[in-house]
Formats: sequence, C-alpha cells, structure tokens
Amino acid sequence: MADLPSLWTHEPHDVLVFKPGEKVADIDAGSTPGFTGSKGDAPDLQDERNERFAGLQEMLYAGSREGDTRSVLLVLQGMDTAGKGGIVKHVVGAGNPQGIRYSSFGVPTEEERKHDYLWRIRKALPTAGQVGVFDRSHYEDVLAVRVHDLVPPEVWGARYDEINAFEKELVEAGTIIVKVAMFVSLKEQKKRLSKRLDRPDKYWKYNPGDIDERLLWPAYQEAYQAVLDKTSTDYAPWHVVPCDRKWYSRLAITELLIEALKTLDLSWPPASFDVEAEKKRLKDA
Ligand code: AMP
Ligand code: MG
Repeated sequence: MADLPSLWTHEPHDVLVFKPGEKVADIDAGSTPGFTGSKGDAPDLQDERNERFAGLQEMLYAGSREGDTRSVLLVLQGMDTAGKGGIVKHVVGAGNPQGIRYSSFGVPTEEERKHDYLWRIRKALPTAGQVGVFDRSHYEDVLAVRVHDLVPPEVWGARYDEINAFEKELVEAGTIIVKVAMFVSLKEQKKRLSKRLDRPDKYWKYNPGDIDERLLWPAYQEAYQAVLDKTSTDYAPWHVVPCDRKWYSRLAITELLIEALKTLDLSWPPASFDVEAEKKRLKDA
C-alpha cells in the first residue's frame, strides 16, 4: 500500500469488495468504510488522487501506442441519484479524454432489441489502452429486466452464468474489470430527487419514472442481492460503495481505479529514438 494516503485504514478494495453472505439490506449508505478523515479532508485529497489516477491512466494509454493491449473497464451500477454521473464527471473526468471511453445504457433502442443483450455491451468495450466506463451496464438485464418482468424468469435466470462467462472472456483478453455497486439510502435519494425538481439546471437529470423505480426499491434490493451473490467472481468482484456522502464515494472509487491500474505495473514507454541526438538536431533546426 505504498502510495495509499494515510487517511485510509485499509486498501479500499479490501474494505469494499463484496463478501459472501453480505446483505444489501444491511448496507449503511451513509457510512464511510475504511476512511478515517472527514469531509473537510476530501477536496485536497480528491485533487491529489485525481492526479495520481490521471498519471496512471495516461501511462496506460501511452503504452497502448507501443503495443500494450490491456485496458480497464469501470462498471457503475446504482439506482437514480446514486451518483454515477458524478463519478464520470469528477473521477473519470480527471483523466485524459484520449484514453477514456464512456458509454451509458438506457432502455434498449429498437435496434438494440433486435440483438442479444450483450450486443450493445460488446460494441462499447474499451479497446487497447482505454479506461472504459459503463454508466449502467449489462447488469440492467438482470436488474431492471428482472424487476419489471421484461423477459421470463428462465431467460434472466440464465444470464448470471452468461455474464460470468462473458466477463471471464474479457479478463482473459487483458481487461481489468472494476465493478462498483453504488448504494444511496431512500432518504438521501428523496433529497436528491427533490433538488432536481427545484433547480432548472438539474431538470435534465430528472425523469418522472425515477419515482416509480424508487417505489420498487424492495424488488431492486432483491435483484441487487442476486447480482452480488451470483456475479462476484475472483476475476471480476463487485465492490459495494455507500453513496450518501458523495465526497466519500468519489474518493473510494478513485482509489479502486488507482489500485486496478497499479496492478498493471505500468511504466512510460521508452523513447524509440536517440534522445541526445534528437536534442542536438533540434538545437540546429
Ligand atoms: P438513466 O441512466 O437515468 O438515463 O436511466 C436509464 C433507464 O434505462 C433506467 O431506468 C434503467 O433501468 C433503464 N435501462 C437500462 N438498461 C435497460 C435494459 N436493458 N432493459 C430495460 N431498462 C433498462
Ligand atoms: Mg436517471
């Protein structure tokens, strides 16, 4: 844990990784697991860690120009207002856009419905050197789809194994998958939705259907439990992130990305030319 800021007691990965038997109903969305600092510590620390992430992310991208084919995929799943957009903007947004691939997944379009549910996902995967971010994902096909009975139970029921096999294939091909389940309490969600209704600059984030989804929370809770129980694998484990405090969830997910990038043991690609000779040439040019 060499460069882990001292305000964490443990690697966030170890604290947040889903543990078999853990219950969604018991998650305290207002908690700050593993973090010993306070909200006041967050802005400076976030800046510093954003820079660390950006450095590693750019190194990954630079390496791909020299033939490194590895990539990272951040999967963000959570109910409305959990803060997925904030992670995209304030965490992933700190990176170099050249190496970032953002994709969001809403209700499937007519064209998407003609294909298998993984079709649109495969098309959006990060390529060599990219950090991909999924704002919702293939997990909607066992969450929204299950809760709303959009396909028969035997169809969504088979998807957990299909998803595991799909993710295994990605990991074997060199993608590190960082899966994050973001949990916001119903109380905090109400506050955030009401803010969206109070501010014209937030209307774009509001959808009347958000209230219908909110009312289905018990069914979603069950569906999330099944996702965590069935698709947390050693090659692509879930992380459970409490999200009532945005400053915490952002710091935590930044660390999860940094940890993932560090396992790649990246370095800047060496010059493919004679640096000294080029300096001399430039001087006289
Ligand atoms: P948002 O992310 O707020 O734009 O909302 C997107 C909506 O699309 C959410 O209500 C999701 O549950 C829904 N959605 C995403 N993927 C699917 C899917 N495969 N089937 C049905 N609904 C989906
Ligand atoms: Mg929404």
